[in-house]
Amino acid sequence: MEGSDDISASSPSSSSSPQSAVVLSPCAACKILRRRCIEKCVLAPYFPPHDPLKFSTAHRVFGASNIIKFLQ
Ligand SMILES: [Zn+2]
Repeated sequence: MEGSDDISASSPSSSSSPQSAVVLSPCAACKILRRRCIEKCVLAPYFPPHDPLKFSTAHRVFGASNIIKFLQ
């Protein structure tokens, strides 16, 4: 078996199903801030749950309220 590309990792836009971001766990920001991560959470796109370090760094530098202010 050779020459077959791994297509599982590279399909950014699927044609059949509409893009519905089903996030079971809160984003990193909400997790750290203990906020309720709503469906239209402004922080979620920037601070995904798998990257909590990114938010904690930004949180330390800017402060939570400033980050939220930036993104709104
Ligand atoms: Zn969130």
